[in-house]
Amino acid sequence: MSIRFDNRVAIVTGAGGGLGRSHALALAARGAKVVVNDLGGAVDGSGSSAGAAQRVVDEIKALGGEAVADTNSVSTPETAEALVKTAIDTYGKLDIVINNAGILRDKSFSKVELADFKLVIEVHLMGSVYVTKAAWPHLQANNYGRVVMTSSASGLYGNFGQANYGSAKLGLVGLMNTIKLEGQKNDIRVNTIAPVAATRMTENLLPPAILESLKPELVTAGVLHLVQENSPNGVILEAGAGYYSLVQIVEGAGVKLGAEASVDDVAAAWDKIADMSKATPAFSSNEKLATIFS
Ligand code: NAD
Repeated sequence: MSIRFDNRVAIVTGAGGGLGRSHALALAARGAKVVVNDLGGAVDGSGSSAGAAQRVVDEIKALGGEAVADTNSVSTPETAEALVKTAIDTYGKLDIVINNAGILRDKSFSKVELADFKLVIEVHLMGSVYVTKAAWPHLQANNYGRVVMTSSASGLYGNFGQANYGSAKLGLVGLMNTIKLEGQKNDIRVNTIAPVAATRMTENLLPPAILESLKPELVTAGVLHLVQENSPNGVILEAGAGYYSLVQIVEGAGVKLGAEASVDDVAAAWDKIADMSKATPAFSSNEKLATIFS
């Protein structure tokens, strides 16, 4: 094992099962001290139990690793603060935050209750904001930090019945895009994983033969690269079944129609405006502005 996490303290949210459990086990196996956070509820976010997080801590300890259980919900500022406090009180510092906790309340946009829409945003997007915000001063004081957001193809591309989930998941990319810049001076790097894996979230959606190849550990290999010392900053990594690819938001070469442009000019130039054959990505909006005015 050449990539190690000795002396690193990591929080993994939603680590009582599925992908989070896999991330926590792998980090601990490579030397990290891990705060295994999980509320222990159902896929739809209802209920809670202390057992889920503790079981994973027991697994880690049985394998000779170091871990502590935390059952705070990520979805309020106070409990997210308490989660970060668990890391600081137990291990004295914090290096790695993997925002992974999540729930589903799928329904088509016409039928979804606004309460269910808000709850999904509250857990995925605001939960990652609350935990990362509570962690941020510790990462700054540490002059080191690796943060991962967990997005989804549903957010990047859309998926029927997941307007709430997709909004939250692409919101996480927006969050990363700004704090990847703000963290640079303290060597805090922020990346996003867009996973596909067999977990309780997907077990009823995909055929067993496909689920067999979607091992969570294969996503974890990508996540661990995003939180290692030599990690990239500001990437979206898609990972599933041993396939790894980067996703970027790109912008077409564009057309300069000038200060007098009208809707008729835009319509007439549409084929050129929509031509993505020379599309390029940018790391920040300043970089993009520089291109426009170059
Ligand atoms: P999972 O249901 O096994 O894991 C989610 C975990 O989060 C659960 O253990 C749950 O108890 C915990 N959790 C829920 N609300 C919480 C809260 N408020 N505070 C703390 N913990 C909470 O499902 P999973 O597939 O392992 O999902 C992990 C992450 O990956 C989620 O963010 C999910 O949206 C994302 N994701 C998964 C897939 C996939 O193919 N499995 C695809 C795209 C994105």
